[in-house]
Amino acid sequence: MDRYGDGTRLVVELTGAVDFQVFALAGPERLVIDLSPVRWVLPDRTLTIGRDGVAQIRFGQFRPDTSRIVIDLDLPLILGSAQWLEADAVSRNPYRLILDLAPVPASAFLATVRVQPPDPAPLPRLRPLPPSLVRLIALDPGHGGRDPGAVSSGGVQEKVIVLTFARELRDVLQETGRYSVAMTRDSDRKVGLWQRVAFARNSGADVLLSIHVDRVHDRRVHGASVYTLSEEASDAETAELARFENKADIAAGIEVPEQLDPDVAAVLASMEQQGTMNCSVVLAGLLVPALGDVAPLVNRSHRMAEFRVLKAPDVPSVLIELGFLSNEQDAERLKSVNHRRALAVAILKAVDEYFLEPC
Ligand code: ZN
Repeated sequence: MDRYGDGTRLVVELTGAVDFQVFALAGPERLVIDLSPVRWVLPDRTLTIGRDGVAQIRFGQFRPDTSRIVIDLDLPLILGSAQWLEADAVSRNPYRLILDLAPVPASAFLATVRVQPPDPAPLPRLRPLPPSLVRLIALDPGHGGRDPGAVSSGGVQEKVIVLTFARELRDVLQETGRYSVAMTRDSDRKVGLWQRVAFARNSGADVLLSIHVDRVHDRRVHGASVYTLSEEASDAETAELARFENKADIAAGIEVPEQLDPDVAAVLASMEQQGTMNCSVVLAGLLVPALGDVAPLVNRSHRMAEFRVLKAPDVPSVLIELGFLSNEQDAERLKSVNHRRALAVAILKAVDEYFLEPC
């Protein structure tokens, strides 16, 4: 968006052709651009502008067949002209929709206003950004207290690395202004697996990310991987990993009341009802390629098993293993603050994508 003559020019870049129509609404004054469905690239659905008569620009999916851009106005602007430019392979320009907005007296603006439809509920609301748009991420650094989790041959403990990483990830997420973070632990203390699940649910988290690093006998095995809950393990290694992670309570000396840890079949049934399982799988599906951009991945990097910490029936939950402490290169990489930062940014990218079309 930029000034153009007396008015304001808005350029929307697109990867394909769309149909569009522009109209004005009052109370408050805004211009609306309806497009045939598009997939937004920008993670933030509300852009604060605060100049040239434009307060902010919101965009999102209005109906299944319509994507909508709303320009909230500080001054009366009407659509002066609209141009559609085809993509140009030579200059590498994408498809562009160019809208020139012209300042007019308020009465002239009102003359163009449509009869007002009901407020589009799916769109982000007017500023300030309401708390409901700030997503709450539950971060769960594994292990803690008496339970070190995996330990490298050099004595590096999983519980330490994952807490360091979770704090760094918290900063990366919160710096965007799009997320707040609740941590199941922010110190070296024991937290039961079921307590972690209850924490995510009670805090109203939109997703739970449980953070771990792995260790296996074969020192060549390396890379990141992402896990979701399933009654049947996807493979023997994952079943073994789930057994190890589920033993955390015993390692930490926590008594687990049986009635608080429902049968995985029952949890899965209720998750299926609520679509939670599908959302966890979607999130895992976004995390794997994002992590793969910055770190090696294990084969078949999205795996499933009965992880107790993933049993919140109403909070999409994934367990991320950042790498293997049993592998020298992975252990070295995880010591690097730059590598951990790259992993955190990759997770942010996946989470952003996930909330573009939230489950
Ligand atoms: Zn672990």
